[in-house]
Amino acid sequence: MGHLVPFSRLAVALSPSCDVSVAAVLPTVSSAESAHLDALFAAFPAVRRLDFPLAPFDASEFPASADPFFLRFEAMRRSVPLLLGPILAGAGASALVTDIALASVVIPVAKELRLPCYVLFTASAAMLSLCVHFPAYLDANAGGSVGDVDIPGVYRIPKASVPQALHDPNHLFTRQFVANGRMLATSDGILVNSIDALEPEPIAALQDGSVATGFPPVYSVGPLAPVSFPSGEPAKNQPPYMRWLEAQPARSVVYVSFGSRKAISRDQLRELAAGLEVSGHRFLWVVKSTVVDRDDDADLSEMLGQGFLERVQGRGMVSKGWVEQEEVLKQGAVGLFVSHCGWNSVTEAAAGGLPVLAWPRFGDQRVNAGVVARSGLGVWCDRWSWEGEEGMVSREEIAEKVKAVMADEAVSKKAAGVRDAAAKAVADGGSSHGNLAQFVQRCRDRS
Ligand code: UDP
Ligand code: UDP
Repeated sequence: MGHLVPFSRLAVALSPSCDVSVAAVLPTVSSAESAHLDALFAAFPAVRRLDFPLAPFDASEFPASADPFFLRFEAMRRSVPLLLGPILAGAGASALVTDIALASVVIPVAKELRLPCYVLFTASAAMLSLCVHFPAYLDANAGGSVGDVDIPGVYRIPKASVPQALHDPNHLFTRQFVANGRMLATSDGILVNSIDALEPEPIAALQDGSVATGFPPVYSVGPLAPVSFPSGEPAKNQPPYMRWLEAQPARSVVYVSFGSRKAISRDQLRELAAGLEVSGHRFLWVVKSTVVDRDDDADLSEMLGQGFLERVQGRGMVSKGWVEQEEVLKQGAVGLFVSHCGWNSVTEAAAGGLPVLAWPRFGDQRVNAGVVARSGLGVWCDRWSWEGEEGMVSREEIAEKVKAVMADEAVSKKAAGVRDAAAKAVADGGSSHGNLAQFVQRCRDRS
C-alpha cells in the first residue's frame, strides 16, 4: 500500500492535464490492495485501468519465510521484460512513471520503445539519496561490512539506521536496491513525495549534483494530495471507529498504527496495550497481527490480554481491520500519531500538522524517523527496537513517552509549522506545485 497509495495520488493529480493510465498488477497480494484499485478506477473514470497479469512465478527458490511483498516485487521484475512492452504499446503511452523497486527492469524496456521513463520515489528524499549513493558506497567498501553511510551533501546515515536487509549483500532486497540505484542515473527524472521544507539537505544535494554528478532532474512534489473515495454510504453507516472519533474532544486521541507491511510480536502487542492503558489517554489503535491481511483471523481479546478491551472501553478503540487513515487524521480528534514512520504516514502527519512519536520497525523507517526528528515533526526514541530484534519496549516507557509528547506544546507548535510549510509547498507558487507543473511540461516537450 505504501507504493500503491502515492501512485494513485500522482495519477489523480496528473489527470486534469494528462491522459493517465495505471497498470494494475494482478493478482494482488492483500485485500487492501484490491479494494484500493477497485475504488480508484470507480471514483476516477478519467484514470484508465491497464491490467498487468504477472507471468507464472516459481517462488520455490526462496525460503518459505521470505516476505510475500518482496517476492511480489521479484515476480513483477521478472514479468516486466516479457510483458510490459506490449502493454505500453497497446496504451499508446508517450511517457512512463515507474516505481523505484522496478526501475532497473523498466528503464531498459522504455529505452527500447524510445519512451521517456521517470521514477516516482515513494519514500523520503533521504532514502532516495541513500539509494543513489549506496552502490558507490559498496564499491568503495570492497566487500567490507556495512557501517555508517556518509552521503555526500546530505548527512551520515548511522549503521543502525541502514535498512536491515542492506547489511546482507546477498539479500534479495539488497540485490534489487543496488540494481535500481545504479540505473537511476539513466532515468529521465525522479519525482519524490517530499517537501523542500521537510528535507532541505537531501533534496538540495540530489538536485545540485552533490549526491551524484550528472544526475537527472529531481522533482519534489509532496505531499501528494490524498484522494478520497466516496463510499456512497450515509453517515450513519460510517465505520464504528469514525463514529467514536467524532465524539471525542479535539486533539485528545492518540492514534497508533504501524502501517500495512508488518505484524508486531504478540509479547510487544501486549506491552503496547498495557502502555496505552497506563497512559490514561484516549486512543485509536490499528492492530496488525499478520503480514498479509487475508491471513488475519486472530482474536483481539486473546491477543491483547484478557480484560483489556473491557477495561479501556469508552476511551480506547482497537481496530483489527484497515482504517481509512486519511479520514482519521483529517477528523481533528487525533493529537498524536504513534507511527512506524512509513513514508506515506509521515507525509500525511506533516500535511495535518500532527506530532509523531516515531517507532520505526523495519526497512527505511529509521531513516524516515530521522527526518521526523530533524524537521521537528515529532520525537524519536532511537532505542525502541527494530522488528525481531532483542529488547522489548516496556509498558512504563511507552506510557511515559505518550504522556510527555501529548503534553509538549513545543512539539505541537513545530508540527504546526511543518503543516504550514507543506500547505505553502502545494499551493499556487509553492515548490511542489511548481515542480509538478515543470514535470508535466517536460513530458509534453518530449512527447
Ligand atoms: N493506511 C490506511 N489504513 C491502515 C493502514 C495504512 O489507510 O489501516 C494507509 C496509510 O494512510 C498510508 C499507507 O496506507 O497511506 C501506508 O503507507 P506507509 O508508507 O505509511 O506504510 P507501509 O504500509 O508501506 O509500511
Ligand atoms: N526502495 C528502494 N529501492 C528499491 C526498492 C525499494 O529505494 O530497489 C525503497 C522503497 O521505496 C522503500 C524502502 O526502500 O522506501 C523499503 O522498501 P520496501 O518495499 O521493502 O518497503 P515498503 O516501502 O513497502 O514499506
